[in-house]
Amino acid sequence: MEALQAVKSGNVERARRYVGLALKIINRSNTKMPKYLKRGTCKKCLTPLIPGLTARYRVRGVRKYVIISKTCLACGWVSRLWCRKTGK
Ligand SMILES: [Zn+2]
Repeated sequence: MEALQAVKSGNVERARRYVGLALKIINRSNTKMPKYLKRGTCKKCLTPLIPGLTARYRVRGVRKYVIISKTCLACGWVSRLWCRKTGK
């Protein structure tokens, strides 16, 4: 993914544009959003989320679930992902 490389080299603006373009193409061609785009980008400012660089990942456990909260460091948007614990 070119957007990830752009962020890694410090070019967040360009990365956002790549993500925006990708979303535009996806909308126009009526295809499903790939998982890496759905989970790996901020829904508010379209910045690709890279742990330690543009995002902060926190993992918490609540009873049978694991909550992965992703905080976008660019705009402060938080997404939480609930996963069921597997095994013991
Ligand atoms: Zn954001």
